Amino acid sequence: MDVKITKFHEECIDCKSCMKGCPMLYSFTVSPKILLHHFTTQKPIASMAFSCATCGLCAQVCPKDIDFGEVFTQSKNEYATQKNVLKKYGYGAVVFHQKSSFSKLFSTTKKFTQGEYTHMAFMPGCALASYSPKLVYTIFDYLRSKLSGIGIIQQCCGTPTRMMGDIEQFQKYHTQLETDLAAMGATTVVTACENCYMSIKNNAPHINIVSLYSVLNEIGVPKEMVGRYTNLPKVALHDPCPTRFESKIHKDVRALMHTIGLPFEEFKANREKTLCCGSGGMLELTNPVLAYEQMHTRANQTQCESIVSYCQSCTESMSKGGKNGLHLLDFIFAPTMPSQQVEQGSFKKWYNRYQSRRMITMLKDTSLKN
Ligand code: SF4
Ligand code: SF4
Repeated sequence: MDVKITKFHEECIDCKSCMKGCPMLYSFTVSPKILLHHFTTQKPIASMAFSCATCGLCAQVCPKDIDFGEVFTQSKNEYATQKNVLKKYGYGAVVFHQKSSFSKLFSTTKKFTQGEYTHMAFMPGCALASYSPKLVYTIFDYLRSKLSGIGIIQQCCGTPTRMMGDIEQFQKYHTQLETDLAAMGATTVVTACENCYMSIKNNAPHINIVSLYSVLNEIGVPKEMVGRYTNLPKVALHDPCPTRFESKIHKDVRALMHTIGLPFEEFKANREKTLCCGSGGMLELTNPVLAYEQMHTRANQTQCESIVSYCQSCTESMSKGGKNGLHLLDFIFAPTMPSQQVEQGSFKKWYNRYQSRRMITMLKDTSLKN
């Protein structure tokens, strides 16, 4: 890293492009070059490293390919070996979340034996199951009607642990996920979550990871949803930052918006230049003040009252930022879609996940619609 830092410092032209849109750099420095100079002799202080949302924007916009995210990620990984440091940044809550997420109470798999797509598994992701077990059920029911034999896995991808820098524990969780997928015979995973997508893509290259939005664009949305929303007021579309470089997902999401007829406008910073919603990198836990500032900043970069995203965490962030955050999947699968998501407390979210898991365990192989 030292060699890289020296190179970063030498090459930085202090144009400050990386500061525009970054949730945290501005609160620690007025000059990225001075900051990099500092890093040549000292590693970032923990409060700085744990304020990085790992959104990837700085590296995307830097004319010299300097990646502050990489610097802070490495620092977080080093700090994570000191449990007393991790504790200061709320790791206790992450440990609880992750242990629960991987427990039998909240995770399960269901494999089906007949059908053309028994090699596929739908992975809704923690946030979607916490939001609405009914939505998870409806999506899966639809997928089964089109992709006979597809299974389902309710499991976390371990991203919260990785974001906190505890790579050793992340590897254990990731191995658990891979083991469960292997037991299902799943070689293709269809996910609704952008963090699951990137985690599996980067850590399990032998698994074919596909976005649910690409699958829906290919198999089509429920026919009663085609052109359904042409009379609604315009919404803004927010791209989640984990998949900022996944241009196919960007394209497929926009195609779906056109198919359902939902009028929308782009944020000025969209696709690969999208901004963090404020919840990236566990920022709500590690630096809540910056997290809420970023939520408010992003939500107010559009005149639209409603902001649609295809990540449940982003959707919630847009509501916390003062706008009406809505999930694209609610438009596609809920004919009586609420005009806004109801805020749910932690207990209700865990209850929802339990209900989602229960629904999955009750599915019968014989109910295949093929
Ligand atoms: S964008 Fe790159 S070159 Fe410009 S100030 Fe930031 S790190 Fe330096
Ligand atoms: S990765 Fe995102 S939050 Fe971290 S320094 Fe870069 S722009 Fe800022």
